[in-house]
Amino acid sequence: MFISFEGIDGSGKTTQAKLIYDELRKNHKCVLTREPTQGDIGNFVKKLIKRKKINPMAAQLLFAADRSFHLENLIKPKLKSNNIVVTDRYYLSTIAYGKASGLNESWLELVNSRFLKPDITFVFDIDPKVAIRRIESRRKGTAYFEKLKFLKTTRNVYRRLARQHGCYMIDGSQDIETIKELLLLIIKHHAPIV
Ligand code: ADP
Repeated sequence: MFISFEGIDGSGKTTQAKLIYDELRKNHKCVLTREPTQGDIGNFVKKLIKRKKINPMAAQLLFAADRSFHLENLIKPKLKSNNIVVTDRYYLSTIAYGKASGLNESWLELVNSRFLKPDITFVFDIDPKVAIRRIESRRKGTAYFEKLKFLKTTRNVYRRLARQHGCYMIDGSQDIETIKELLLLIIKHHAPIV
């Protein structure tokens, strides 16, 4: 089973991906991974974004290149050896953030069209003001991706994409334990043996 976690920064993806991973690994082989990866392409694109030395289209092409590397080197081999793969961000991030940066959505869909589709995608939906409060309590300063107006646009794109791509939209404002129980219920519904 291949599960992806999506949503704006501060929506609670990472917290839940870790909790679900900890729960699933009790009875199953399971890996927790994330995008951008810690590989060369992932580190390179993170560095360029941090220094604001990249335009949106180049950034999304590099994210997609990193994804291709991620799929071939980790996700597919782990699925083949019967692991449950949990990823914190995947191609919906490219489409949502890319569209919010002004890129053409059909092009973004096309660039990502050949990647393996997850069995389950959770899209965490949250008011960007709440997300920013959470992020600010986590660390000082705001990065390019974390500005309010941009997050509002990204949230709206995510909400529409969640419907179009058959994802589960999760209310990220609920408490951590409630969300975790809901996610486990959905996962068990998909694969009753888990
Ligand atoms: P993301 O991966 O979407 O950026 P994180 O999981 O890192 O978000 O969460 C951002 C911050 O919000 C963290 O400090 C985390 O502890 C906190 N947080 C996560 N989920 C919740 C929640 N449901 N309620 C309150 N705070 C939360």
